[in-house]
Amino acid sequence: MVGERTLAIIKPDAVKKSVIGDIIRRYEAAGLKPIAIRMTQLSKSAAEGFYAVHRQRPFFDSLTTFMSSGPVVILVLSGDDAIKRHRELMGATDPAKADPGTIRALHGTNIEFNAVHGSDSPETARFEIGYFFSDTELGVR
Ligand code: ADP
Ligand code: MG
Repeated sequence: MVGERTLAIIKPDAVKKSVIGDIIRRYEAAGLKPIAIRMTQLSKSAAEGFYAVHRQRPFFDSLTTFMSSGPVVILVLSGDDAIKRHRELMGATDPAKADPGTIRALHGTNIEFNAVHGSDSPETARFEIGYFFSDTELGVR
């Protein structure tokens, strides 16, 4: 889709490793333009709401504890086929299985502390963007 939007999160592990700039540089180099950006620390309940689809998974408590453990950078990225191209740039969920040169291969530690989040479908992108950004913040673009 032309000018598609997706939600990206630079997770607490990546912020601690001081690779915010490297990751945003990779988005821009791939033609994924940041159109909204915020640095914040999520509460446990905000992380639980964001990952509500994973509520029944065994890793839900650990994941939401991790995601609320330190600052994150949340971005809306825009570009043609942004959802799919962003997922390719991120690499597989498990950094050990991610293709060389992907963000998770470069900066992820393990299947949980894997540096970045990306929406996986138009429906989840709509929910995730709306979870963090108002229409006012997204502006008239
Ligand atoms: P992705 O982020 O690649 O879309 P999922 O949606 O399946 O992956 O999982 C959401 C997040 O939950 C992952 O990015 C990772 O941080 C964590 N996670 C996924 N699988 C596991 C697991 N088996 N053990 C611990 N954490 C996991
Ligand atoms: Mg997912």
